[in-house]
Amino acid sequence: MGKASEALKIEEDPYISSPDKCLGMNNRLGVYPQREELFGDDALISIKCPHCHNAFSNQKIRMWFGTDSDGAWAVSGTICPTRECQRLVLYLEKGDAGLIMQDGQYAQIFKPFKSGARLIRPEFVLPSIPIGTPPKIAQDYREASMVLALSPTASAALSRRCLQSIIREVSAKDIKNFKQGNLKGEINQVTKSKTILNANLIEMLHGVRIIGNFAAHPNKSKHTNLIMPVEPNEAEFNLTVIDKLLFYYFVQSPQEKKILDDINKKQQEKS
Ligand SMILES: [Zn+2]
Repeated sequence: MGKASEALKIEEDPYISSPDKCLGMNNRLGVYPQREELFGDDALISIKCPHCHNAFSNQKIRMWFGTDSDGAWAVSGTICPTRECQRLVLYLEKGDAGLIMQDGQYAQIFKPFKSGARLIRPEFVLPSIPIGTPPKIAQDYREASMVLALSPTASAALSRRCLQSIIREVSAKDIKNFKQGNLKGEINQVTKSKTILNANLIEMLHGVRIIGNFAAHPNKSKHTNLIMPVEPNEAEFNLTVIDKLLFYYFVQSPQEKKILDDINKKQQEKS
């Protein structure tokens, strides 16, 4: 294709009406000169800041960068209002884009697909890990969280190993005659031992086996450092259970734990 026809093609493109606003990017890559900041229906977002873990509601700003053969692309973001943080939280969004008539003029709109957003700053959400967590457990938990978006299979392998370390290094201290075996058997010893009286947490530990489909994949339980098939939601669920376990063991004071355990015990007796 010659230069003249390429130029013509660009001029005919309805999205490019003001070449003087071009920011020097290659239009053929779908980077359009006109950019738009939208304050649409979903502009107000409530999130837990992935940098500092504080929750906030803030206005989201979206910039549509253009369309390529895979779809329309935008970057949306907000800034954490927490004084000590004030970092940008940015998402790359995929969606549909087009023109609409507004007040007698064409306006560009971008509609993101519901599942099309990917966190790009920070690139991953680092968990808040309680002080006192053994370093090996903290390391596995951090890495399992970091790789979740890229590889749920790798994340689940790390989180299963992390769960087993928590049970062996922390839970087992309260259990008489604890026997090391496979993850399934070790979870059973924890839940049966009554050392954790938080009913919700016990249910979640049972859930690790059920969601992980350990019955169908016995090796998953035997060799927790092996890369094994991952069930839908298994990787995320394991991370939630680790978070709750670490909170239970390292954040609550012994007094708080006793109060919580007493409440749970009473509830269990009632039901
Ligand atoms: Zn923050």
